[in-house]
Amino acid sequence: MSDHSSALPRLTPAQESTLAVLRRSGEPLVFTEAFINDLRDEANEAFAHFTDRLNGNTMFITKHTLASVFDCEAHYLAPDDFSWTPARARGQVAHRAIQLLINWRGEAVPTELVDDAVKRLVNEESGLGLWLDTLEPADQADLRGQAGDLVTKFMECFPPLDPRSRPVTESSTQWPVDGPILLRGRSDLTIGRPEGRESRKLIVDLKSGRVQARHREDLRFYALVETLSRRVPPRLLASFYLDSAQPITEDVTEGLLRSALRRTLDGINALVELKVEGRPAVAQPGASCRWCPLATTCAPGQAYLNQRDDNSDGDAFAP
Ligand code: SF4
Repeated sequence: MSDHSSALPRLTPAQESTLAVLRRSGEPLVFTEAFINDLRDEANEAFAHFTDRLNGNTMFITKHTLASVFDCEAHYLAPDDFSWTPARARGQVAHRAIQLLINWRGEAVPTELVDDAVKRLVNEESGLGLWLDTLEPADQADLRGQAGDLVTKFMECFPPLDPRSRPVTESSTQWPVDGPILLRGRSDLTIGRPEGRESRKLIVDLKSGRVQARHREDLRFYALVETLSRRVPPRLLASFYLDSAQPITEDVTEGLLRSALRRTLDGINALVELKVEGRPAVAQPGASCRWCPLATTCAPGQAYLNQRDDNSDGDAFAP
């Protein structure tokens, strides 16, 4: 590992334990060609059936699509009233700053990385960039503080990453190359690359707030898309909780990939039923009731909100 600066690194205990997770251990992990072909064949066959039911519609499937439709179908179909706030923007700004950090030469300062990230986002004129360009000084300071906190935690948790370990942020994967249904992943951080058929890649999702089951499903979806497109699965998945400086890891197995494919196909099936075939949506109360635009008129949601405790489990890196 090299340093963010030119000095030799002195790793903190948190960085040491992250490094231990990042290091490859045990026997080489190689998935058989027969298994990969079987997984791809099953996905291709299911996609062909879904295409017949789509009536010319198209679908773009991400981890958020699947998590949303499984969380609550009624919320998923509700009109989107999303608007940016400093709390919502801090995750994306921090991601961009961490992207700069990974390739930074010399000493990196979190707030300077955040300022640079904001400038780049503004120049790109995306939805977030256009909103950033209109910020009042107080909101700018608020955002800088919140995003800077996340970047600082990342630097405290992760050792400086050696370029030879191929660290990549915001790496996109897609399968198939074209068609009415596309699976799309964009992982926060990948480290390592396959060697021949040997799985060596680690996929990391950065998280704040509480551990949630959906975080693990998100990573399994990334592993599936990686496997379908690259034909070599990653070896390890890690949700990294920055507030507690703690990763939760999962080894990639055939069972994990088959389960991820089944969940993905179940999600696409539900989407086809809801958006093309007109099945009524089911209201499923849960954490998303807190930001659901239907909450004031939804009886199951009201009952849930009246019962829940007030503890926040907000995730700064959530959309
Ligand atoms: S309030 Fe809750 S249960 Fe009702 S639609 Fe929204 S998320 Fe679903």
